[in-house]
Amino acid sequence: MNVVDQPMVGRFAPSPTGAMHLGNARTALLAWLHTRAHGGRHILRFEDLDSGRMRNWAYDTTRRDLEWLGLDWDAEYRQSGRLGLYAEALNRLDTYPCTCSRKEIAAAIQASAGAPHGEEDIYPGICRSGSDPDRPAAQRWHVPDRTVCVSDDLTSETLCQHLGSEVGDFVLQRNDGVFAYHFAVVVDDADMGVTDILRGTDLWTATPRQVALQGDLGFPTPRYFHVPLMTDFRGERLAKRDGAPPLMALREAGESPGKVLSELVRSLGWLPFNAVPDEISAMDLIPLCYETGLFHPMKSLSQT
Ligand code: GLU
Ligand code: ZN
Repeated sequence: MNVVDQPMVGRFAPSPTGAMHLGNARTALLAWLHTRAHGGRHILRFEDLDSGRMRNWAYDTTRRDLEWLGLDWDAEYRQSGRLGLYAEALNRLDTYPCTCSRKEIAAAIQASAGAPHGEEDIYPGICRSGSDPDRPAAQRWHVPDRTVCVSDDLTSETLCQHLGSEVGDFVLQRNDGVFAYHFAVVVDDADMGVTDILRGTDLWTATPRQVALQGDLGFPTPRYFHVPLMTDFRGERLAKRDGAPPLMALREAGESPGKVLSELVRSLGWLPFNAVPDEISAMDLIPLCYETGLFHPMKSLSQT
């Protein structure tokens, strides 16, 4: 199945762990622009599986922030209400219970020769041959022995990873029952008919494992567009936990959403500075992106 033949569906998938900051807003804006410029359906999906990290007020604040910017959506979901779907998909994959603690995994990696340094730890497969039935178990995916390559329609980059040696068997469900992000996102995007995934570059290196899951679950692979994350004056990416200024503070202070949108687009550096008016609505940004021809996601799609 090819997503090119399907009606366009895009999404914005925030985690309601706190207030949206300008960086989240810029990604939300680009995802919305991409969908709307192609007359697609736009989905708002709250990624709230790890209930301990969620803030109840953040759902509403996120909705209000998006509305304030003029970024609408056609359907809304919460991952926390879709657990049955994930459980069903999990059953279709070759998984095994794993009772290893972080410490045990680290010790096993240390003990093996040629342990990789610095990079994300690759699970050495300890529980493939069995695990302790008396300890709570996570479910790991026994990854197929193949190389998965992905390409990005915005950056034109390609990334190949060998699942066994570069990714390793990864957790699909934690030992407290919480489904893993990489897994839920794949099930959801397929179930919701998402054809276009526009998100931050922080998820680029996780794309091969998500595409691998799509392959084994028989799901189509969407088009990917990874956009740069907003950084502060030190070049560090904005993060909720570091107290990046929340969008709601601007909203509550009576700032004009049109000015915020203008700043968000200018901050990308994709358009000449004076091509963007000081104040502009989300709707008016759509033709602007087309006219200037410089908004890459639009460009690459209109060429296909
Ligand atoms: N929920 C993820 C985040 O907040 C985004 C997931 C995605 O776009 O695939 O960064
Ligand atoms: Zn294990």
